[in-house]
Amino acid sequence: MSQLDHRLSGIYAEVLQRNPGETEFHQAVHEVLDSLGPVVSKHPEYTDAAVIRRLCEPERQIIFRVPWVDDSGAVQINRGFRVEFNSALGPYKGGLRFHPSVYLGIVKFLGFEQIFKNALTGMPIGGGKGGSDFDPRGRSDGEVMRFCQSFMTELYRHLGEHTDVPAGDTGVGRRELGYLFGQYKRITNRYESGVLTGKGLSWGGSQVRREATGYGVVFFVDEILRAGGDSFDGKRVVVSGAGNVAIYAVEKVHELGGTVVACSDSSGYVVDEKGIDLDLLKDVKESRRGRIEDYAQARGEHAQYVAGRSVWDVPCDIALPCATQNELDHDAAATLVRNGCRIVAEGANMPTTPDAVRLLAEAGVAFAPGKAANAGGVATSALEMQQNASRDSWSFELTEERLAAIMRGIHERCLVTADEYGAPGNYVAGANIAGFIQVADAMLALGL
Ligand code: GLU
Repeated sequence: MSQLDHRLSGIYAEVLQRNPGETEFHQAVHEVLDSLGPVVSKHPEYTDAAVIRRLCEPERQIIFRVPWVDDSGAVQINRGFRVEFNSALGPYKGGLRFHPSVYLGIVKFLGFEQIFKNALTGMPIGGGKGGSDFDPRGRSDGEVMRFCQSFMTELYRHLGEHTDVPAGDTGVGRRELGYLFGQYKRITNRYESGVLTGKGLSWGGSQVRREATGYGVVFFVDEILRAGGDSFDGKRVVVSGAGNVAIYAVEKVHELGGTVVACSDSSGYVVDEKGIDLDLLKDVKESRRGRIEDYAQARGEHAQYVAGRSVWDVPCDIALPCATQNELDHDAAATLVRNGCRIVAEGANMPTTPDAVRLLAEAGVAFAPGKAANAGGVATSALEMQQNASRDSWSFELTEERLAAIMRGIHERCLVTADEYGAPGNYVAGANIAGFIQVADAMLALGL
């Protein structure tokens, strides 16, 4: 890890001491503090009012028991979390992740990231995140429903359209959101559409929300390409993951003239030189909840499945890590550089390790961090909240136009801010500083 500015290293030491063992959270905090040296030099008022120290401590952390009955009649116990990190800009906003790896440190890392990401969108939303160590994979619909109902039976008291508004994340899609919303409605006797985002279209959801994170990443890359007088035309793209973010990133790359030649899941990756067959991918992943290996099998001779290896071995011009945190490490970054990759943009949250980010920067690869590049999902959640508040629903075209404009705005804000603080072209510095200043100014205005 790089050396922090002396005014920030004390804050980081305090974070380490107050949050033992939460390595992902430490990493996320370090990554932001690493950009803030020039900001504290220019603005002593932030240090005087302990804004950064306050930002590193969540406003509220909720941990709860989630008991439920599985199909064999046995009682299962999981742990639920909601970290309400910062509400200076609006109600806490951020997804729920259901995955066996979830513990407090993961939720805090994601919640911390969410504060700055949400600020960058320019929408009135604070930062939060939640989830559970429950694994929906291999569970029946009935089990998922009973788990979601139990989870919401505790969580509902902390939520509200003006208080805390969850959405999906890994392991939480429309099915889970439906069961969660149903239980909220049942308990409160209120059809409070704005309390959750990512809803189905017939029950208060927004057009483009499903596509938004994947489309948003690709819009962001399109801005990077345009800034260099280039386009997606003819570009070879590799996407990691095969979930919601990855699928819609593939869709938009293909629409803009690029070709996605590989995608992956936790077991392996598939190479499809003619371009990933999107209809088949959607059928395997969305309808059948299958694996990438099933895609490869169905695709026959067109596709090659490689088990247990890194998708970053596949040569490409543009890499879009859309799977999970720390999936693209130093070795993978070195391989990408060797193979001529020019742009890496994060569709997942913190998928690139710090030493990989450094290596990419040194090699002159344009690197777009998740809090800028994947902000399209939460931005469209904020558009869903707008529609719910006005009891309106917009067309696909209008919503997509709004999303594209928001991503253009984030790209522009990153570049202008990076310039202003002496780091031209550095999207990491631009995103961290622009997001921070937005939140910090609101915190100063609102007092302790
Ligand atoms: N889970 C998504 C994210 O990481 C979306 C959150 C939301 O829509 O609230 O940004």
